[in-house]
Amino acid sequence: MDKVILKQILTEYNQKRIYEEERIQKEKKALEDANPKLKELNDKIAKISLDYSKKVLAAKKEEQSKILSEMKKETASLIKEKNSYIKELTKDSNLLQPRYDCKYCKDTGYVTKGGKEELCTCVKQKIFNISYNKSNIGNLDKENFSNFDLRFFSDKPNKELYNSDYSPRENISLIREKAMSFIENFDDPTEKNLMFTGSTGLGKTFMTNCIAAELLKEGKTVLYQTAPVMLDSIIDERFNKNSTTLMDNILSVDLLIIDDLGAETVNDYKITDLFTIINTRLLNQNHKITKTIITTNLTLDEVHKIYTQKVFSRLAGNYRFIRFFGEDLRLKKVKKIEE
Ligand SMILES: [Zn+2]
Repeated sequence: MDKVILKQILTEYNQKRIYEEERIQKEKKALEDANPKLKELNDKIAKISLDYSKKVLAAKKEEQSKILSEMKKETASLIKEKNSYIKELTKDSNLLQPRYDCKYCKDTGYVTKGGKEELCTCVKQKIFNISYNKSNIGNLDKENFSNFDLRFFSDKPNKELYNSDYSPRENISLIREKAMSFIENFDDPTEKNLMFTGSTGLGKTFMTNCIAAELLKEGKTVLYQTAPVMLDSIIDERFNKNSTTLMDNILSVDLLIIDDLGAETVNDYKITDLFTIINTRLLNQNHKITKTIITTNLTLDEVHKIYTQKVFSRLAGNYRFIRFFGEDLRLKKVKKIEE
């Protein structure tokens, strides 16, 4: 599965680069046609390299590098002149430079780390999106911090209802601060993972998507799974011995989002798998920091009871428990439209 997707992605990248080259050639030609001085400069540069190439071919081996450095010297000042002329003409000094979607791999799909060539995170993320995230985190254009609106949250505290001295608005502001800290300190091993509790419609998924959007911008990989789908898929995968990619990816992705823990039908296998996932991701395998966000409608007491002390103690020691409370935002938004 992954191989087919990978091939498809790399083909797209290749096309993207070809398209960029064509765009540059077109822009260049249009500029030259409109500005004969630019064409002259380009011709001059081309002629110098042609002349020197002939010289190099005719020269003795020990003289060749001297000739090449002469050529570089001579063309350098012309190229400088040309670039400042282009800048003057276009006001955009990068017009004839390739534009890349990914600054890390320059749209090649590969980066070199420690002398070894490996897949860029942008490709890994694309594979995750196609294989797992699908519609789940496709909403990041809308669900990010710039669309975060505190006014949706009531500013009236209600101790009896919410069991807190804070208003929902104060609470969500504090949550936002914690989310920011999580993003900023993502690579810090002492920064805790997050567990969002609270009933549906209080903004847990929205907050999770905001965090995912920021981390994706920083080149981190994000894998989103609902607990029911994740835990069932792991069991399916175990029976289908050819494929172990899902578990590998779950264990190694930079940010794993387990949404809606507690919505699955629980059994001992699933609890064991959940423990493995939570525990392994805490161990910073390959000296790589990974973080996890879990959301649940369950209370902490219920989490403790359902997933056993073993799982709960890993959560309690390494996760920041954050409780969402307030009115159901989805109902509120509907009300606003009806008003
Ligand atoms: Zn890349």
